[in-house]
Parts: sequence; C-alpha cells; structure tokens
Amino acid sequence: MSPLPAPFWQTKKLGEMSHDEWEALCDGCGRCCLLKLEDEDTGEIYLTKLACKLLDLGQCRCGDYTKRHELVHDCLSIDPESVKALSWLPASCAYRRISDGRDLAWWHPLVSGDPETVHRAGISVRGFARLETNANSDELERYIIENFNED
Ligand code: SF4
Ligand code: SF4
Repeated sequence: MSPLPAPFWQTKKLGEMSHDEWEALCDGCGRCCLLKLEDEDTGEIYLTKLACKLLDLGQCRCGDYTKRHELVHDCLSIDPESVKALSWLPASCAYRRISDGRDLAWWHPLVSGDPETVHRAGISVRGFARLETNANSDELERYIIENFNED
C-alpha cells in the first residue's frame, strides 16, 4: 500500500493555491469580522466582541460573501501578500498558520471533516459576538475584549 498524498495546505505556499483551495482554507471562525478600535495616539489596535453587520452569528460566515465589498466598504480582502501585514489576524487563522509555517489544527474543518469542530473547540466567535448594529456607537470601548487564547 502506498501512503496517501499530503494535503494541499502541507505542500503549497499560500500564493500557489488555487482559488478553491484558498477559500477552503478559511476555518469559518469569524474572528476577522470583529470590529477593531485603533488608539489614535499609540496606533494600538483593540479587539471588540462586536461583529460586522453582515456576519451570520450562528454560522460565523459572511452573510453575503459575494457582495461583501459593496455592502461593507472597509471589509478587507486577505491575500497571500497581506497575511503578514495584518497584525490583527489571529494566530489561529489558517492563513496566518500556513504563512508562519505551521500546520492546521485538529479542529480545522479540513482536518476534522466537520465544520462544527471550529465552534466546539471554542475558536469561533459563536456564542459571544454580537452585531455592531445592536451597539451604541458612542460606547464602542465597552465592547473591547482581551485577545483570544490562541491555538
Ligand atoms: S480569521 Fe482567518 S480563518 Fe478565521 S474567518 Fe477570518 S480569514 Fe477565515
Ligand atoms: S463583509 Fe462579510 S467578510 Fe467582510 S467583515 Fe463583514 S462579515 Fe466579514
């Protein structure tokens, strides 16, 4: 018996992946869709538990991925070049992990074969995020959270 070939995320760099492979790499945690606040004096970025208005809080996926840039003007695209520059991208993020030379974790749907494991492992924002549209825009600091425990 010959061994199974290694999966694409172990053999390809981010820039070598096909469109479908790139999209499949997203673990569906929703962390990158949380609002960030920047201290104008220090440049420090603070994470909040407020999610973009388009985030489906149950699935932790964008509610309109195709039209996201039309509907949310500051929605950033992640690409192989920007991964290292986006300091707020969590260490658990599959793109950051591969960029840093790490493997995917057991809870990643590509590894587990189950899209629920990212939620069961406590990696996703399910259960604690709330939509930005439900928050008072004058009180955003109230929603600042500690950085996540990383995996
Ligand atoms: S943080 Fe990374 S893995 Fe998680 S939803 Fe965003 S792009 Fe996908
Ligand atoms: S538009 Fe979609 S992908 Fe962009 S931040 Fe909002 S929920 Fe996330």
